[in-house]
Amino acid sequence: MKRKEIIAGARRVVVKVGSSVLTTPDMTIDLQKIQDLSGEISELIAEGRKIALVSSGAIAVGMERLGLRQRVEGLPDKQAIAAIGQPHLMALYDTYFQKKGIQISQILLTRDDMDHRRRYLNARDTIASLFKFGALPIINENDTVVVEEIKVGDNDNLSVLVAGLIQADLLIILSDTEGLFDRDPKVYPEACLISEVEEFSEGILCAAGESFSPTGIGGMSVKLDAIRKAASFGVPTVLASGKRPRVLRDIFDGGHIGTLFLPRRDPLSCRKQWIAYGVRSAGALYLDDGAVKALLYGGKSLLPTGVARVDGAFERGEGVDVRDLSGRLVAKGLVNYSAQEVAKIKGKKSREINEILGYTWGDELIHRDHLVILSAPGKEAS
Ligand code: GLU
Repeated sequence: MKRKEIIAGARRVVVKVGSSVLTTPDMTIDLQKIQDLSGEISELIAEGRKIALVSSGAIAVGMERLGLRQRVEGLPDKQAIAAIGQPHLMALYDTYFQKKGIQISQILLTRDDMDHRRRYLNARDTIASLFKFGALPIINENDTVVVEEIKVGDNDNLSVLVAGLIQADLLIILSDTEGLFDRDPKVYPEACLISEVEEFSEGILCAAGESFSPTGIGGMSVKLDAIRKAASFGVPTVLASGKRPRVLRDIFDGGHIGTLFLPRRDPLSCRKQWIAYGVRSAGALYLDDGAVKALLYGGKSLLPTGVARVDGAFERGEGVDVRDLSGRLVAKGLVNYSAQEVAKIKGKKSREINEILGYTWGDELIHRDHLVILSAPGKEAS
């Protein structure tokens, strides 16, 4: 797919803004930048795009509030500074987005929220509802509570997880670099910007290797690692300089800005690979023939009506096998209802769910986005 089509056609977009974009060289918050980005994002939303903004800057704003000039070291101090900075960062965004009539919202995530399926689903549903309300989710790591074991660690990787979470069709990482160069532009002034990366070849990684930042979070190696993950999830990424005026506008107006990393062409996304091969099945759903056909050949979600039997004691969000009545494995997926709930709603119409359970987690037992077809004659896994 051409760059123009990918970008113009992107309806769900994650924009990641790094601290370096939001601060001036003397480490003060660049209010003009926040205002400009808010204006550009508002325009994209007005065009009907759903934007999730992953914004760093809590620590930078906290440092400014405390009058600190040097980055602090100890974890509790960093967490305290983030706790001070985060609400002020949000207040700044609120000021500018309000002027554009956009309601903002704050989501603070940890690695744990992504790993635990129930929390993952809840985060996904919350963001879907925020989009429904026309609100802009502004996402950061929950710096104040994360410890090493449960932290994502950097917002490049967080933005990729969010891109997976909302099934974004584009990720834009705004940083202090113009993109990926064929060698380190700080060392080689003649270095060329690579405008498109189709594959993460050795050559690309080597060339970029020279420009890896040895310091802290968000260096080029971290970025490339994150972008590679996005590509394997099927999400294209633009890496561009957030310092450039009207950068988002120019990207969407078709300018050859930054580096576009194309997604992998594999039929199975990384997430689906994970569902297919990584997730432990905690039970099974047995389908009647009609439902099996709809699933295999109609590309449909799995609804309760086609389920004849349920096995196991799974919870909402866990992995389950999907089998035909003879027991043949046809698919695997992450289920939207627990085994107990499925036992009550199997064979019923989706519109009856609310009446039977007194609540609903949606029409689908397994949404097709969380379903991997494993066995269909004449068909690849998909
Ligand atoms: N969460 C950190 C902050 O808001 C930034 C982490 C990063 O930029 O990667 O300051």
